[in-house]
Amino acid sequence: MLYQSTRNKNYTATGPEAILQGIAPDGGLYMISDFSDIKLDWKELLELDTIPMAAKILQALLPDFSPEEMDELAKKAYCGKFETDDLTPLAQVGDRYILELFRGPTSAFKDVALSMLPQLMTASRKKTGMKEDIVILTATSGDTGKAALEGFHDVEGIKIMVFFPNNGVSAVQQAQMVTQTGNNVAVAAINGNFDDAQTGVKKTFAAAAENSTALNGSVLSSANSINIGRLAPQVVYYFKSYADLVREEVIKVGDKVSFVVPTGNFGDILAGYFAKKLGLPVEKLICASNENKVLTDFLNEGIYDRQRPFYKTTSPSMDILVSSNLERLLFMMSDCDSELVASLMKQLNEEGKYRVPAEMLTKIQAEFGAGFCDDQKTAVAIRKVWEKYGYLMDTHTAVAWAVSEEYKKTAKEPVIVLSTASPFKFPHAVLSALGETPAENEFDCLTQLSEISNLPIPKNLSGLKDAKVLHDTVIDKEELIDFALNKAGQAKW
Ligand SMILES: *Cc1c(COP(=O)(O)O)cnc(C)c1O
Repeated sequence: MLYQSTRNKNYTATGPEAILQGIAPDGGLYMISDFSDIKLDWKELLELDTIPMAAKILQALLPDFSPEEMDELAKKAYCGKFETDDLTPLAQVGDRYILELFRGPTSAFKDVALSMLPQLMTASRKKTGMKEDIVILTATSGDTGKAALEGFHDVEGIKIMVFFPNNGVSAVQQAQMVTQTGNNVAVAAINGNFDDAQTGVKKTFAAAAENSTALNGSVLSSANSINIGRLAPQVVYYFKSYADLVREEVIKVGDKVSFVVPTGNFGDILAGYFAKKLGLPVEKLICASNENKVLTDFLNEGIYDRQRPFYKTTSPSMDILVSSNLERLLFMMSDCDSELVASLMKQLNEEGKYRVPAEMLTKIQAEFGAGFCDDQKTAVAIRKVWEKYGYLMDTHTAVAWAVSEEYKKTAKEPVIVLSTASPFKFPHAVLSALGETPAENEFDCLTQLSEISNLPIPKNLSGLKDAKVLHDTVIDKEELIDFALNKAGQAKW
């Protein structure tokens, strides 16, 4: 099975090649062109434990790997790394279900994919006979950086470099990153904001492409959700939560369910649509946004317009105006019309907006719903769910919960809300929502939240305060490219 660029059907790649490249040479995203090529008996999956289920789904999506190989990779990625063996537990909360994706090594949902991606990359290097070292460059607004460091540290043949905005992430997030161990990791704070870090990383890619000797034989790659190797592992928990509901006799095999997904880059929810294409009986996928509601407007009106004010919200991982993975949906909903996708992406780039054809909008709306919620309503949702059901949500989950209220009123099928972060990752906002006065120091907020909720602080966060700082590099944003190229060119870090 070959993947193809969303923008040009002549750019194709095997699964391992697509994983190593991250993005197609024309800037498009690698995609499956025909889901009916994929051999997978989805009903059989429901009988499996989560890790073998993951292996089976990933093998179907990446058939260059044998079932035995993929079993091995999934075990290495997940065994003993999550709080529970089922990786992503499902909790009943009132008349809905919450799918907890945050029980991994850094308490963020990105762990699900970033635990698996290093395994897939390492195996892809072997399969393609790649000799060069890969250097992963990551700009982060907080969560991705740590999850990527955790996934890639000490992985042979791969190095990882993370840039975060100096004083622009929470104290806990900063501590998570600067205490990272490993002989292949570099972490630097940038005097600038997240966009400066992101721009610097993009420019580094361009500079390396122009000057191939600058890297001394290593190759740059990326670990964000434009990489198909990061998207594929996210398909698993949709099946897993469905299997839970079957086991608990809430539904019978074949009954439909709906998912409400807190959305930023559109990777998580797109994985849900992949699950549906693979056979999972999904009624609707509801896209939940915060005040940066570019996707709500798009799904309602068919116009994607990124020219609008950017809001900093209490759900920062969803503060995004250009959702990269939407490009893959456009490709699927246009019957793989790569010319159309290329033209829409060009319009987005040059004019800041595009409109999809009416028939395409109708198709999209048949599958996806949308809603948004501001910070105030997010806080109300946290408090209400805590007081009514004794369940503590983080701010991102709360956005989805609030959006699910309206949908739930008319839904006949079970509704599953995806939970993407532990409340302990955003203790300040969660305490405020509960009507408490958060302590000034964020580490004290962790203790405060634990005492109020009677929930334990996740282990990976509780030891942070006293962990040794191993990375204290601070650079100006203009220095990023030189720093990155120079570091990438060094054999030993
Ligand atoms: C990344 C992230 C999201 C958004 O997921 P996308 O796949 O980018 O849509 C939501 N919540 C949290 C906590 C995240 O870290």
